[in-house]
Amino acid sequence: MNVQVGNKSQQYIDLEDKHGAHNYHPLPVVLERGDGVFVWDVEGKKYYDFLSAYSAVNQGHCHPTIVNAMTEQAKTLTLTSRAFHNDKLGVYEKYVTDYFKFDKVLPMNTGAEAVETAIKIARKWAYEKKGVQEHDAQIIVCENNFHGRTTTVISFSNDENARKNFGPYTPGFIKIAYDDTDALEKALQQDNIAGFLVEPIQGEAGVYTPSDDFMMRAKELCAQYNALFIADEIQTGIARTGALLAVCGKCSCEGHCERQETYSRPDILILGKALSGGAYPVSAVLADDEVMNVIQPGQHGSTFGGNPIAGAVAMAALDVVKDEKLAQNARELGNYFRSRINEYIETTDTVTLVRGRGLLNAIVVNDSEESDTAWNICLRLRDHGLLAKPTHGNIIRFAPPLVMTKEQLDDCIEIIIKTLKEFE
Ligand SMILES: *Cc1c(COP(=O)(O)O)cnc(C)c1O
Repeated sequence: MNVQVGNKSQQYIDLEDKHGAHNYHPLPVVLERGDGVFVWDVEGKKYYDFLSAYSAVNQGHCHPTIVNAMTEQAKTLTLTSRAFHNDKLGVYEKYVTDYFKFDKVLPMNTGAEAVETAIKIARKWAYEKKGVQEHDAQIIVCENNFHGRTTTVISFSNDENARKNFGPYTPGFIKIAYDDTDALEKALQQDNIAGFLVEPIQGEAGVYTPSDDFMMRAKELCAQYNALFIADEIQTGIARTGALLAVCGKCSCEGHCERQETYSRPDILILGKALSGGAYPVSAVLADDEVMNVIQPGQHGSTFGGNPIAGAVAMAALDVVKDEKLAQNARELGNYFRSRINEYIETTDTVTLVRGRGLLNAIVVNDSEESDTAWNICLRLRDHGLLAKPTHGNIIRFAPPLVMTKEQLDDCIEIIIKTLKEFE
């Protein structure tokens, strides 16, 4: 397919190609500015952003509340390390634990670090609280998971690209099929299980959305067998799926209530990405005292974890989510988006289905996983002013910032359908 790129863009692409490691394969577009749901490339062309930096930019690009909090804090105090206290950390810790209703938070920076932290806490809990024999704890994970890129995390991936030639792998993980409660129960019957680590919706795998009761059953089974229910909400959390957390299920409370019948409350909650609105790397692990207190001084840490900028940015980012009712907007626009795309699907063989929740959605195009159809559609979408990225050869994720309006979404749906029609 003919890929057109402006001269200026090509220069930047060439620089990355020559001087940067080739660990990504970006769509050929070079961005220089963002505002709300829009980004602009270096030739001045404007696009709707339908990736939102993998759901880090839920609050929209360069949200003024977040940028102000960040710049004010950057002028005042940036980093002390945890060798000393600072006047933002405790304030942030109170704010974030009130917001998500857990006793304690352990602040980190990237998502993968937060997953690593959760794994360490779960193992330590297994040895010190559950009485598992040292070095024997197992964590149950799902096939086609995505939890990040560290050596331990890729050890339990089944993506060959992510794993091959990065061994030897970290042991201690048992893989079961996603959305399979029978397999989960069987695995939990071993007496050395520390916990079950799961994405409420598998984002990277192609927005695989499990049965409605999977999270609730998983939580119940973990409780029954005395194992920790660990939710990786790095991509699904913070309003993306139409509730504050995807484990809130169908509850329409914006995630701030504690309706036991719909809320599959995790024992360990992992957040990242939109916790900062994309302004800064901020991740967090939340748990109640009986779990979090297994970590004592010197046993875990990070130079940048809990730094004053991160605290200020995260509080602003979470304020925006509440003040602008982003969960509600994601829920309403998501329902509308899927119904409009479903209407189109009835008329065509090009797209086989649309799935997702809130504004985390994907379409599956009628071609093989190895095909380049999704990539080619994304190139065309780019030409028409909308940026999205395939998750597989035949799957395209659609995840715009949650500050989008209905009028803007109508505009986007028109672009998407027009583009898909070119591939009929
Ligand atoms: C993005 C993501 C991660 C990793 O986060 P990084 O900040 O890239 O390390 C982990 N889990 C899920 C579900 C993610 O979507």
